[in-house]
Amino acid sequence: MPRRLIIAIDGPSGAGKSTLGRMLARELNLLYIDTGSMYRAVALAVLESSVSSIDDVAVGSLAARVSIDLRGEPESMEVTLEGRDVTEAIRSDEVTRLSSIISAIPQVRRAMVERQREMGKRGGVLNGRDIGTVVFPDADVKFFLTALPQERAQRRFVEERVQDPDAEFEETFVDMTARDRRDSTRSDSPLRIPEDAVVIDSTGVSIDEVFATMIAVVREKTRRGLAILGDG
Ligand code: C5P
Repeated sequence: MPRRLIIAIDGPSGAGKSTLGRMLARELNLLYIDTGSMYRAVALAVLESSVSSIDDVAVGSLAARVSIDLRGEPESMEVTLEGRDVTEAIRSDEVTRLSSIISAIPQVRRAMVERQREMGKRGGVLNGRDIGTVVFPDADVKFFLTALPQERAQRRFVEERVQDPDAEFEETFVDMTARDRRDSTRSDSPLRIPEDAVVIDSTGVSIDEVFATMIAVVREKTRRGLAILGDG
């Protein structure tokens, strides 16, 4: 049986990775694997345990033993931690901030990368920060999505306002910039543009337009393997 298609989507926060990853997975009938939610689940596990978030060894060993699952369809993906649905809980500000800190710990990364490779064995659309560089360096198609920081923060802010009408743009902007800086400067698997990635800057471009570009790239790159895409 031929290996199924692997599509890697990397980029900073608010670049549209989740929305577009879901749309691609749906269109191509592939599994959608949001790796950020796995780091978020580890952060939640730390917050709910007696482990100190600054004890790298303890956080690393918690990450290696905790059970995390991603289930369901791309649009309604459910994240479970030790069998419990934590889809909502991993979106809190506290978890968001801590996930970006604990994801710099090499032992945490090793544990997550191992699971992601296993999950992606039968193909999938994976989004994150190190998919095309570390997790699947031989992915069939690699995208690097980006947009100007002001616009990325604005997208996040619109989502946050739904949860919290008192949210302030300035705070969203500062938090997002700090996370991006941490992701890009950590020594283990920093956020980088993979050498062979197609870079898409979505500043001022609609989701539908970006999606059309991505689908065209996938079809072009997999011309000889159209059967995989299910369109003959
Ligand atoms: O993508 P999302 O914002 O949900 O990811 C949460 C955090 O997890 C990011 O800020 C980043 O620090 C970390 N992350 C990572 N590597 C990935 C995916 C996410 O370090 N592949």
